[in-house]
Amino acid sequence: MRMREQDTKTAGKVKVSSPNQTTTNQPFSMSKLTFPIPLWEGFSPIRTEVHQHDLTIHLSPQAHGICRCGQQVAAIHDTSIRSIKEQPILDYQVTLSLPIRRLRCGDCGVVTEHIPWLKRFSRLTDRLVRHAEQLLELLPVKHVAKLTGLHWHTLKGIDKQRLERVVTEPEWGKVRRLVMDEFALFKGHRYATVIADADTHQVLWVGEGRSREAIRPFFTMLGEHCNYIEAVAMDMNTAFDLEVAMHCPNAEVVYDLFHVIAKYGREVIDRVRVDRANELKADKGGQTEGETGPLGACTGRIRSLIPLQSDHSFRSKPITDSVFIRSI
Ligand SMILES: [Zn+2]
Repeated sequence: MRMREQDTKTAGKVKVSSPNQTTTNQPFSMSKLTFPIPLWEGFSPIRTEVHQHDLTIHLSPQAHGICRCGQQVAAIHDTSIRSIKEQPILDYQVTLSLPIRRLRCGDCGVVTEHIPWLKRFSRLTDRLVRHAEQLLELLPVKHVAKLTGLHWHTLKGIDKQRLERVVTEPEWGKVRRLVMDEFALFKGHRYATVIADADTHQVLWVGEGRSREAIRPFFTMLGEHCNYIEAVAMDMNTAFDLEVAMHCPNAEVVYDLFHVIAKYGREVIDRVRVDRANELKADKGGQTEGETGPLGACTGRIRSLIPLQSDHSFRSKPITDSVFIRSI
């Protein structure tokens, strides 16, 4: 951060005590270094306290309080001190000790003053909330909690507010193709299902469970728009297709090729392999066979069941591939 020599009537001036001091309680004096920006509009720091990696900055009002109606009000009903968390500075977790006034406004009566950088009733500055939001875009909540010193639940609330602000309501009337899949919760045997728009990739719905009943609320919510659904991609492990058929009369069910091949390998190739191994085991006296013997017959049978793609190009194809495979 660029700093400059003294000056500024509006700039917040913070003198940070030495980290070796466990506690200081010095009167605030003009510092040699000042931030060339107003840190806390309407307030100025009067003293600081440092305890290990915690920095407390005591603020004092610079002017009359501002009522929520916008008027400056000189009459003060009472004042209370509130501890407010601020964005960390260097290695320090910062807390502001902020006097908050209740004003006697001629129009509004007794009201708590409006502070431009602090939401009503909040104990986090807007600056800290913005900082947390930026981190939450990049890191898990748990990691952001470690970095900022904020509680997991506090951060979860901030993240929810951010998502409600930035994620727009889907245009339900334009949804034509869906993708749905299940995922495990907490690495256990509990599952959830996610449904997304295949064209915009926007997540439309998430619900706990992977049964037909679990996803039914989505189609109920979709309502008449179900009629416009043209295709739904899914894996082959669930009964989602029955639910789709019930609600979306015009939708094709698309089994994505990756799961088709995986299921084929698991349920066909493995079955044939085990059967043939057992046959060979029973026929110990038989000759070792090559392509023309039992193993060769086995291979031929597999090849005849499905024309496997030799180049494995399906791996790189999106699950909305135009190849619709209903069954094998
Ligand atoms: Zn007012």
